Amino acid sequence: MRPISAVTLSCLLALTSIAFAKTPPTELAPPDSSAAAPPFSYPESAENGWPKSCESDPAATDPSNPPPDGPQQSPIDFTRLTPVPATIPLGVLVKGTYNEGENNVVFPMPTIAVDFMNEKLTYSPVSFHFHFPNEHVVKANTAMLELHIKAKDQNQHYGVFAVLFEPGLRHNMPRNPLLNQVIANLMAPGTMSGQVDLVPALNKFMTSHFYAYVGSLTTPQCNTGINWYVLQTPELAPASQISAVVKALQGANMPRSNNRTPRQLTTPLPTVYLSNQ
Ligand SMILES: [Zn+2]
Repeated sequence: MRPISAVTLSCLLALTSIAFAKTPPTELAPPDSSAAAPPFSYPESAENGWPKSCESDPAATDPSNPPPDGPQQSPIDFTRLTPVPATIPLGVLVKGTYNEGENNVVFPMPTIAVDFMNEKLTYSPVSFHFHFPNEHVVKANTAMLELHIKAKDQNQHYGVFAVLFEPGLRHNMPRNPLLNQVIANLMAPGTMSGQVDLVPALNKFMTSHFYAYVGSLTTPQCNTGINWYVLQTPELAPASQISAVVKALQGANMPRSNNRTPRQLTTPLPTVYLSNQ
């Protein structure tokens, strides 16, 4: 996952959004390291700076030759797996409370409470970014835009909430507000920054089916043990709007293709859950 811009959490204005600063792109540090990530580029290859820890090793089935960084790399193609139906309670919390110091009602950053794999996890979003074309596959043969909302749980482990945007060609299709905010922010002059409200996207996880599985970051160091939550049904947005987002992202130095392709599935197959809601 490669952030398209430095992202700072804002204490101003609507506190349910994440500021989207118009500053040079920076790479987010890997989860358990404060060191800057080494440079890499696409497509994925050792020559392009992708380390051994990113390799999906078919030797995963051979206990005498374990893979370098665990068996499970992301992204994956959900259409090639049979998900396990599961109840995965999930809530997005943004309840305002009165603050005496501010003499006002203040709104915290959204938190996402998830019960997954027998753990009660509480996530706080830390950044978001896009991939184009998509990394996870929820539907074959359609190039989509993939939003990753990266969040940290109470144990400082990363989870990623992914929403895909599918280009729609229907006349008069409403523009997606989140994508509109992204375009406006990236096109803003100079160092102005705007905010993107992620709450509507996160709220979708409370009312729609989503896949959940344990995988990896999709950029070096490709750390494993990452919980993924991926909406099963893409959001539809006008094809022209998705093109405008991609153009704005590329104008801000995002590579033309910054997607890691789905990993080859090896046995044992990863367990993918599909939420009931
Ligand atoms: Zn990503």
